[in-house]
Amino acid sequence: MEQSHLAIFKVDITQIEGEGNFPCPKCGVTISPDDETETVFKIIDTKVKKHNLEELVILCNKCESRIRLVGFLQFEKKQEQLL
Ligand SMILES: [Zn+2]
Repeated sequence: MEQSHLAIFKVDITQIEGEGNFPCPKCGVTISPDDETETVFKIIDTKVKKHNLEELVILCNKCESRIRLVGFLQFEKKQEQLL
């Protein structure tokens, strides 16, 4: 496998404003986590901790960067506090 030299970008979803869309850190294509069509990106790994989504690794279809989405647990807490 020759993929280990590729950079993995990290995006903290608690830092994303608005609807959760963010640009790919490398090519700038808009990634919306709610998009399930796999035209822009596809999910290649998920990490779950105690039934809660902890981390998501996605692959940008345009530039083939891997992007780790972190902060789901904190994000849930933030949402709960808003209620
Ligand atoms: Zn990209």
